[in-house]
Amino acid sequence: MQDSEAGTGGTARAVRRFAAPDIGSSLGALGTQRIIAIGFTMVLVLMLMLTGLGLSHMATIKVRMVNLVTESNVKTESVFQMRSLSRERFASLSQMVVLHDPFERDEEYMRFQAQAAKFVRARDRLLGLGMSPEEQAIWGRARELIQRDELLHAKVIELAMADRGEAALGILLRDVRPVENRLLEVFNEMVEQYRRLNRQSLHESEIDYRDAAAYMLGLAALALAMGLVIAWLVILRSRHAESKLSQQTEIAVATAAQLSWAASHDSLTGLANRREMRRRLNELVGETRAQGAHHVLLYIDLDKFKRINDSCGHFAGDEVLRQVAGLFMRHVRSGDLVARLGGDEFCIGLANCGYDKACQIAEAIRDDVEQYRFVWEDKVFQVGTSIGLVRLDPAMDADKTLQAADVACYRAKERGRNQVCVFG
Ligand code: GH3
Ligand code: MG
Repeated sequence: MQDSEAGTGGTARAVRRFAAPDIGSSLGALGTQRIIAIGFTMVLVLMLMLTGLGLSHMATIKVRMVNLVTESNVKTESVFQMRSLSRERFASLSQMVVLHDPFERDEEYMRFQAQAAKFVRARDRLLGLGMSPEEQAIWGRARELIQRDELLHAKVIELAMADRGEAALGILLRDVRPVENRLLEVFNEMVEQYRRLNRQSLHESEIDYRDAAAYMLGLAALALAMGLVIAWLVILRSRHAESKLSQQTEIAVATAAQLSWAASHDSLTGLANRREMRRRLNELVGETRAQGAHHVLLYIDLDKFKRINDSCGHFAGDEVLRQVAGLFMRHVRSGDLVARLGGDEFCIGLANCGYDKACQIAEAIRDDVEQYRFVWEDKVFQVGTSIGLVRLDPAMDADKTLQAADVACYRAKERGRNQVCVFG
């Protein structure tokens, strides 16, 4: 009975623990699979955003670098070319002025024209790439100087072709050279401006790279945090499921133990029942057959038990049955088995017990119960026992042995009750 209560107490504790508030149970509504699916979808979206952002920033940086390398370099090269052609044209013009041979002068004039054509190509290439307002401002000054230069060039060539070298030289030195010098300065200014633009472009690319890296790091950290949160939720869920499972296992084990106990015990006295007694008897008979062991069975029926029921009620009768069961337990060892077969009938299997010793024990039990008094309100009852004793025999199975013990007990009743009667 104590076992049973312990089992029930264990179950109640398990149920109490099961009912305790748990953070995991608050997540019960949200299935683990859904948490994993939503969480990983979000992480995937973040990763895609991360990749997209990274690619777009890298594309911007690449475009800037390409512009820097191609457009800016081509422009710088064109300006350099125009600058050196201006110098060459001035040198060519000077030659024309000092040459006296008309053929050589014509040859020099042809060279001058070829340089002019190259100059125009370089200028067209520069203008073809388009210009920012700042570039246009500088280019406006260069264009004005180029136009003035062209007019002066035409004048110098005309005088040189007319063999008026001195006048041509005068214009060349007095008018053309300062214009040329200022033009070279403007070209230098343009080159310097392109260098500055290159540096600015590089700087912007670096800023773009830093921004992209910061965004990507931010998104990666977010994805990591999301992953950790999901992992945490999944751990919580699985912990909750594990504890639920172990609680259910505990309950199942306790229930199984209770069922097994109930199948082999008498609920009123807590003693073994008839079924358990038969099982044990079969074992003892087996030992008798195999090893020639000496075992004894006592069959006990209380005398005049009904009158307690009749005068004090079943509740009192139950109490007597419980107390008498306790008395029986005082006379047995751990290997023996005490059972209640039903009503006021009991059985005691005395394992490895000789005949004389068994008679002594049976007599002691009878005497003990005879001395026992049951007090109920103002009434006092004395209970007797009629005990049938049978030695286990290899020729008799469990049922026959029980039958024989019952017969001996009946004989004790017939002989006047409150006595021990041996079968055979
Ligand atoms: P005898 O001396 O011939 O043995 O007579 P008795 O009064 O002891 O009665 P008997 O052994 O013939 O019958 C046992 C009685 O025990 C019958 C029934 O009313 C009563 N009984 C059976 N089971 C229970 C039980 O669980 N609780 C109680 N209180 N009484 C029971
Ligand atoms: Mg009886």
